[in-house]
Amino acid sequence: MSFTTNGLVCGHHHLYSSLARGMPAPPQTPTSFLSVLENVWWRLDAALDLDIIYWSAALGAAEALLNGTTAIIDHHESPFAIEDSLSIIQSACDMVGVSSNLSYGVTDRWTGNTMSSAVDTSSKMTEEARRGLAENERFIRSGGRGMVGVHAAFTCADDTLHAAADLAKQLGVGVHIHVAEGLDDIDAGQRLQSLAQDDWLIVHAVHLKEKLNGTLAHNPRSNMNNAVGYAHPTKWPNDVILGTDGIGADMLEEVRIAYVRQRESDITASPEDAWQWLSNGEKFFPEVRNDVVTWSYDHSDSPWHVAFTPGIRCTSVSRNGELLVSDGQPTKFDMNEIRAKAAEASTTLHERLS
Ligand SMILES: [Zn+2]
Repeated sequence: MSFTTNGLVCGHHHLYSSLARGMPAPPQTPTSFLSVLENVWWRLDAALDLDIIYWSAALGAAEALLNGTTAIIDHHESPFAIEDSLSIIQSACDMVGVSSNLSYGVTDRWTGNTMSSAVDTSSKMTEEARRGLAENERFIRSGGRGMVGVHAAFTCADDTLHAAADLAKQLGVGVHIHVAEGLDDIDAGQRLQSLAQDDWLIVHAVHLKEKLNGTLAHNPRSNMNNAVGYAHPTKWPNDVILGTDGIGADMLEEVRIAYVRQRESDITASPEDAWQWLSNGEKFFPEVRNDVVTWSYDHSDSPWHVAFTPGIRCTSVSRNGELLVSDGQPTKFDMNEIRAKAAEASTTLHERLS
């Protein structure tokens, strides 16, 4: 038993969604997963600019650190602020002190100012997708830690999927992609099977039928929130990591949800599975093994104890011998300032969505 753990890893995040909380109601109430994307997330990402992206990422990264999460794999989209967006997110994560692995999610659903979710898979790559790939390439070639991001197969032409896979190979990194999250993306496995490599990050895989190479990112709370179904991550031989899909970065909370979601239909399920998924994130960020996170609970390293103890708080975080959180408060940045700037940015963002 111990009060301490390593730094925790959020294996799939959307830091741009930190300011979505409290956003105006969508024009129509979504009645399907695709309609959630169309009415909420694709309206939100189109309203982002670089200033909003920075404060959204700073808030999300700060909330992660205060929950003992010292590393984040992020998937970003901002179709009207593509260039430099990954560097902006990195600077926010650096300011807070968390490690990051960033991707820009390319898609063919935009042509100029027109958005269409019905993408012809045999069409040529759009200029918008080309710009997204260029942002991934610019960021990674300039020394940024990242993967090549793809939104999802169902919003991309085959031409774009191949170009993303080729670019990732050239850069020596994987592809970070949503796969079969909803039934709209049911063909994803088939379309990606010849492309996916061991270094790919396959996110969701709720309706995946074919085995794909790569690590699976399981996001149990988000999947429930979007009513897409249970992903049954244990049915695949792949390594599984745990993500939040943009709903904060409280990873002990995500472990509890992953466990209880698994247990809901399997009385033999053990929280040791969810704990393993959390630990597997360390392969993307070996440095978190040197972090020391102290918790308000003396069995914070025990899956069975954590699964049944809601409300465990992070009291301190030490990285590279430096105390980044002390008595639950950040030592290197001003949380009140981040909250104030994020509130200003969210006012601008929400006005654009009204
Ligand atoms: Zn996601």
